Amino acid sequence: MKESMKLRSGATIPQLTPEAAKEKSYLTRAALIQMHLTPSGSPVAFFENPDGSITYFFDPTKLVETPPELWYAPKQKTETMTTENGRKLIKMNTRRAAAFGYYTKERLSQMNYDVIEEPVAYTTRRDKSVAYFYDKKTAIKRPLLCVKCGKEVRYRHKLCRACFEEDLVLRREEGDAYRAQHFHAKREEVLFFDLELTGVYDHDEILSITIINGKGEILMDTLVKPARKKRWKQTEKIHGITPDMVQDAPTLVELTPRIKEIFAGAKQLIAYGISTDYSHIKKIYETKEEQEALREKTRCAAVEFVRYRNEHEPEFLHASLGDAMAMLGVEWDGVAHTSIADTIGCAKVWEKLFPNYYDD
Ligand SMILES: [Zn+2]
Repeated sequence: MKESMKLRSGATIPQLTPEAAKEKSYLTRAALIQMHLTPSGSPVAFFENPDGSITYFFDPTKLVETPPELWYAPKQKTETMTTENGRKLIKMNTRRAAAFGYYTKERLSQMNYDVIEEPVAYTTRRDKSVAYFYDKKTAIKRPLLCVKCGKEVRYRHKLCRACFEEDLVLRREEGDAYRAQHFHAKREEVLFFDLELTGVYDHDEILSITIINGKGEILMDTLVKPARKKRWKQTEKIHGITPDMVQDAPTLVELTPRIKEIFAGAKQLIAYGISTDYSHIKKIYETKEEQEALREKTRCAAVEFVRYRNEHEPEFLHASLGDAMAMLGVEWDGVAHTSIADTIGCAKVWEKLFPNYYDD
């Protein structure tokens, strides 16, 4: 005889004989249903019947009255049946049973639950056969199975460990082949850029811009004086650019002709986390067409890194530029979080990911 069992809630309850349970005034579910009572808490003890099913016992001080609409069936007098092992069950229709949280074994199985408790009620089907209802609360949630083999318990991406590993090998091969391609890019036509901003919102402004090309030549590296913002205490801690530092810096309007000239010569415009940078730099263009033309040139180094990471070390979860550099063995050149160091880091990460990107 098992001495105790663990409930889904994590609580452990003891096994008691029906006699011992009676002594403690514990009530079985069958008794509760007849009294129109519903347990408000988990069972406090159990008994394993000779047929292997479980009878739960409930604390009589932790009960609530079953709402009348659940038991009041005016045209129908309460019918009961006695099971083979002498237990009395109440008849109820499927809808009423569902209101209690009672379902058939088949329905619970569809919901991924296994029944261990004895039935708590029953109904008669049209063909006069009997269907038993079981309490979902005491059923055991089955672990979800792999969507590919349907046999093993899920590990990641809805796949079991073996199917995940198999899938990973394929994805890695595909990814490595994609990254190893010869892209025939010209180093002068591939630009990397990074902005430091006053904050994360669209109304925030640019405080510094760095643009380099695939040769590592610095095409622009300047602080920018914001037009409206006077203070940016939060981001100052990250990039270290103070209001004093940008006092005599050029404004974005002043820099715009030169930036446009640089971008005009580019085939690709790459940043680590391009969406933020793009949403700010596009403002130098007035028309939607010009902005769209710029967007078409952009590529995101972070997206490419995340793909690589998921294919090679899926247990590695972080994807900041620093993480990418660490995983790919790239050293910082200058102080992290300055736009010049981030831009150089991004260019190096890109070349690690795409070793045959350039023609030379
Ligand atoms: Zn599988």
